[in-house]
Formats: sequence, C-alpha cells, structure tokens
Amino acid sequence: MFQNNGGFSRFEKTVYLASPKMHGEELSYVEDAFRKNWLSTVGENIDEMEKAAAQFVGCGYGVGLSCGTAALHLAVKLAGERLYPGSRPGRSLEGRKVFCSDMTFDATVNPVVYEGGEPVFIGTEYGTWNMDPAALEKAFELYPDVKLVVAAHLYGTPGKIDELMAVIRRHGALLVEDAAESLGATYKGKQTGTFGDYNVISFNGNKIITGSTGGMFLTDSLEDANKVRKLSTQARENAPWYQHEELGYNYRISNIIAGIIRGQFHHLQEHIDAKKAIYERYEEGFKGLPVSMNPYEKGIAEPNFWLSCILIDKDAMCRQVRGEKEAMYRPEPGKSCPTEILETLASFNAQGRPIWKPMHAQPIYRANGYVTADGYARARSDAYIDTGVAADAAMDIFERGLCLPSDINMTAEQQDVIIRIIRSCFE
Ligand SMILES: *Cc1c(COP(=O)(O)O)cnc(C)c1O
Repeated sequence: MFQNNGGFSRFEKTVYLASPKMHGEELSYVEDAFRKNWLSTVGENIDEMEKAAAQFVGCGYGVGLSCGTAALHLAVKLAGERLYPGSRPGRSLEGRKVFCSDMTFDATVNPVVYEGGEPVFIGTEYGTWNMDPAALEKAFELYPDVKLVVAAHLYGTPGKIDELMAVIRRHGALLVEDAAESLGATYKGKQTGTFGDYNVISFNGNKIITGSTGGMFLTDSLEDANKVRKLSTQARENAPWYQHEELGYNYRISNIIAGIIRGQFHHLQEHIDAKKAIYERYEEGFKGLPVSMNPYEKGIAEPNFWLSCILIDKDAMCRQVRGEKEAMYRPEPGKSCPTEILETLASFNAQGRPIWKPMHAQPIYRANGYVTADGYARARSDAYIDTGVAADAAMDIFERGLCLPSDINMTAEQQDVIIRIIRSCFE
C-alpha cells in the first residue's frame, strides 16, 4: 500500500460496486452435474433451483432462463399476445405503446422494442426512486389505449406497489414486474416478483445472488410457466420430429449455471442481511454530511439493499457539467458532486457508479414519450440540456445521486475508509 494525498491508503485490491460471493455448495452442485453428465439445459440443478426460487418468493412456478433480459422478453411477449391476439410472430406489441419505468437499466425496456412496441417513459417519485403513480395516472389520461406497464424496483427498493397497482387495475392494464434488482425485497410482507401478471428476476454477476448469468420467469399460472418453458426451448411441439407451430427462442438456462444458483439460494438471506448492514453503516457514517441515502417506505417496504446510494443536498452540490459521454466539475470548499466523489473513489481503487441514467434521456429513446405527474414532459426535460436545471425528479436524482461500493465482500474496515474518503470530498 502507498499513501495518497488525502492521507488514506489506496486499496490494494479493488473494492467493487457489487461482485459475486460464493460459498462452496455452488461448486458441489456444478461437480454433481459433471459427474452425472447432465451438461445441457435439463437436469436436477434446474429443477431444484426453480423450486428454491418459487419457494423463496412464494409463487407457484419458476422457469429458469439464460438471463433476466430473456425472461423479460418472454414476459412482455406473453402479455402482448394476451392483450393483442393475432399479432405477427415476434411482433406482439407492434404499433402499441407500453408504459415503462424511466429510472432503470435498459434491460427493463428493450424487450418491449424486441416485440415491436414503443416504450413511453413514466416519471419518477422521490420516495423510492421508482415509477410515480401520479405520473402513471397522467399517462393513462394522455394515452387511454395503453394496456401494459413494465415497472422495476430500482436498486432493490420496492416501488409504491399498492398505488401503482390501483392505477393499473383501474385502467384494465397488465403489469410486467421487473424484480431483477430486488430479489428478496418485500412490500407489506410479500416478496417482489409476485405482484405482476408476469414477473422476472435476474442472476447476473452483480445481482444479490448470481449464477454468473441467468434469469427466471415467476408465475402462479402453470399454463404460463409451460408456455415460457416451451418458447425458451425453440417452441418444439410434442411430435417425433422437430415440429414448430410458433416462433421459438433458445433462452433456457444451463444445468451448470443452475447449479451455481441452486447453491446461492442457501445464502440469499445472508446476502440481504450483509447488504442491509452496509446500507446502515453508510447511513450512520454520513451523519452530519449534506447527503441522504436512497430512500424507502419504512414500515411498508423492506428492500434487499442491493445497492447503497446517496443523494447530495442541492445546496451542497459544486458545479458539475455532464455531456453525452463525459463529465466535468469545479471543486468547491464544503461542496461536492457525484463526479468528484466517483473520481476520488476511483483514485483509491474503489468502484462507485453514477445513478442509472434515465431512459428518456438515452439517445436511443429520445424520440419516445415521457410523462410526469405534470403531463407530457419531453419538452421540459430536453430544456435541461440548455439550462442545466433538472426539470424532473429523474434528472435531479441522476444529477445529484450516485451508487456507492456495496459489495458484500467489502470489509467493515474498508467501508470505514470509503466513508472517510467521501467525507473528505465535502471538506
Ligand atoms: C440486471 C437487470 C436486468 C437484466 O438482467 P440480465 O440477467 O442481466 O439480463 C433487467 N432489469 C434490471 C432492472 C436489471 O438491473
């Protein structure tokens, strides 16, 4: 280790945002698959992992898929085919608008486009950093024909599910619940991934438990589970030869990957507890700083605390300018900004990340609709580029927020140093 300017030591090994944590059983299940030569997309690991997931979240069936994005694709496809029967293969949402979370990873949204649909982004509320029920209501006023909503739980914090469901049901729409980041989080005692008409989780390498990759479709409907199983294995009909009546996909999970996930399920609760301890240590460590943690509805929701984030108070922000692909800031005593903190953390070999850039501000989706509680928000939000004044909650949180190292491999001592480094940014 060597001393850096601030008097802290640079971490010898990178402190990650979120990296996998293995425990041993995972490897024994993988070895079991080798021993039995079950090295394809069938086997005991898949069956057991599906059971473990369904049991943990409390739903009827889980279908293991190659990744969360594949699960989302089949989820929106099933929704599209139910809402709009008779569509062309692979085009179940052709010409249809779909209301989507704005502050999320693009995997929430892209599957709508895979099916020919057009995402319309819904504004964000400050209470959980998720889809704003008032904005969703406004969107149904503006686009009364819409019948599908895709909503995520950002960073493992459940959105305002009751309020969102009330709006969705009142308008006779369906919900695809993207619980990719929130596996193990609960809302009024019920697990996320059980509220939607179609539900999805992910086992990507940075998620709370992982198979290195992998995802799952969750449902109470045996019929839907069977449909997803069939579509994910090229939609083969029950016939002596390869017989196909509909468009299929190669989305099934491998029995090797499933072995890792099967082992990880024994440790999901332990991971959640460790993530919560990290969140609380940050919360305690930042007392007196002009920042707040990513919020949740205390007493209503219990996040899985996948990522710990902070939001810097408005009057404690130094000047920061973000272009399309780079950022600059002007240091100021007593103030800081996400760019300064992220650069400082990086100089000590610790990994943070900006808040996920809202979808409505992504170049690929700049022509799509964007609705906040005040109505159609595209013009106001684009004006931000000229004025530098965030027009809405999503851009404001993007501008003032950041994700902190939230790795459960991080030690308490390392986290204490990270807290001190961040404190130093405000000196
Ligand atoms: C990770 C993630 C996904 C996609 O999962 P993959 O397994 O990486 O395909 C979808 N939505 C959200 C919100 C995610 O964070």
